[in-house]
Amino acid sequence: MIVIGLTGGIASGKSTVAAELRKLGLPVFDADEASRQAVAAGSEGLAMVRQTFGSEYLTATGDLDREKVAALVFRDAQALRQLEAIVHQIVLAQAENFLQECRKQGCPAAVLDVPLLIECGWHKKVDVVWLVAVSVQEQIRRAMLRSGMAEADVKRRIAAQMPLEDKKAYAGVVFDNSGELQDTLAAVRQEVKKILGEDFGR
Ligand code: ADP
Repeated sequence: MIVIGLTGGIASGKSTVAAELRKLGLPVFDADEASRQAVAAGSEGLAMVRQTFGSEYLTATGDLDREKVAALVFRDAQALRQLEAIVHQIVLAQAENFLQECRKQGCPAAVLDVPLLIECGWHKKVDVVWLVAVSVQEQIRRAMLRSGMAEADVKRRIAAQMPLEDKKAYAGVVFDNSGELQDTLAAVRQEVKKILGEDFGR
């Protein structure tokens, strides 16, 4: 089984590419969603958060108090590292289960969709990195258009990620998504075909 690590900066089009890969029948692990679930109400991760930071970081309904935690990790770098370690360990275990399940089912390929794939060292766990690339200006424009994020917030998020040019050194395939989406998706289908060969589209 070929393990593809799909990554890209904020608003590069990574989720759009992931949706296309799902449409083509490839199993896709969504690390963003897994991170949210890792600290969902009643989860093992949330219990670890309570143990580490105290029950005041949970709401009255037993959910993670995201605002309070965000304020804490913004001012306290050690707390940020602790929170990341909790979430990372759970998401990693889930990704490994996902791959094991895909192997059991005889999937020819599986995708790990991970925004910080390279920053977190996950590129070492995959056979090939697929990078979705757009310019910083386009990232800002699309992020603001998509969710009404303030320009300064998008810039801060971009600054916290590895620059695109550095990421390219790790990528086996780079999808330039600065043009029409249909061209990017055609390139994606082409790459899938290369990997799956005759199995593609069955
Ligand atoms: P990511 O998952 O990398 O944050 P998304 O896939 O959500 O990014 O894409 C960010 C935004 O840009 C979405 O609103 C998406 O519809 C849009 N988008 C993606 N590709 C293109 C493209 N080639 N041209 C214009 N808009 C695009």
